[in-house]
Amino acid sequence: MNEKPGRLWIVATPIGNLDDLSPRARAVLRDVDVIAAEDTRHSAPLLAQAGSRARMLALHEHNERDQAARIVDHLRAGENVALISDAGTPLVSDPGFRLVRAAREAGCEVSPVPGPCAAIAALSAAGLPSDRFVFEGFLPAKSSARRERLQALCAESRTLIFYESSHRIVDCLADMIVVFGADRSGVLARELTKIFETFIAAPLEAIAARVGADANQQRGEFVLLVAGAEGEAADTQLAEGRRVFGLLRAELPPARAAKLAAAITGAPRKALYGSAD
Ligand code: SAM
Repeated sequence: MNEKPGRLWIVATPIGNLDDLSPRARAVLRDVDVIAAEDTRHSAPLLAQAGSRARMLALHEHNERDQAARIVDHLRAGENVALISDAGTPLVSDPGFRLVRAAREAGCEVSPVPGPCAAIAALSAAGLPSDRFVFEGFLPAKSSARRERLQALCAESRTLIFYESSHRIVDCLADMIVVFGADRSGVLARELTKIFETFIAAPLEAIAARVGADANQQRGEFVLLVAGAEGEAADTQLAEGRRVFGLLRAELPPARAAKLAAAITGAPRKALYGSAD
């Protein structure tokens, strides 16, 4: 066995425009011994374009547990491995977390090669507050479960970011109007970095109307951003934060109680800690 284990590289790949593959990503994909890809057939053209001749392994949500152990064996044997997903940054609504954890537990180095990520690309061009945001990934497929999840986010004051697919975008917008209200601001970012890239920045009801009226706007890939709650809804969150803080405060030191209450309710920690005594 080789004395020095290999390194696991987490490589971001384009979300549409192939020119977004960074020179460093290209070099890593060319130099590693093994590439773990979500779908080896899907990634083959990108790897050919990058000049990579590495051996490929499939790592997807159904085999990640077993493949992680195999990939750690490769790393232990001194081989360098790159993880890529079908598009964007691995682990962001994509497989890889178990592999990264297993590699770290085995004492292997893990390094990111940052690059495209649909959530961050959308946020960067949406024009909604971006200092603090919440990435929620995909909402549940069923409307009842989706509304329940949205309800839990109703008073969240940070900008919300969701991924959505073409066959659910209309229903998802309808549920958001029910839960967040027709006037809440949103931004729908569609087909980022591709030919039909479109941003619709408007109240949720107006976004839904535009998407509902144009079948073309229902095609492709979507990031849906929703402005955080303001005023009354945000006050509700603070009130809930204070209530939970009060309960925890009876059992825990104030700083710890504030941290937990903030994590549970989404209310700002400082606002809760300030309410100690
Ligand atoms: N790991 C990827 C990333 O870094 O963005 C996300 C993978 S997730 C399985 C795929 C979802 O990301 C799509 O359903 C869509 O919501 C969003 N997405 C990916 N590419 C996109 C694009 N070019 N434009 C808009 N949304 C995109």
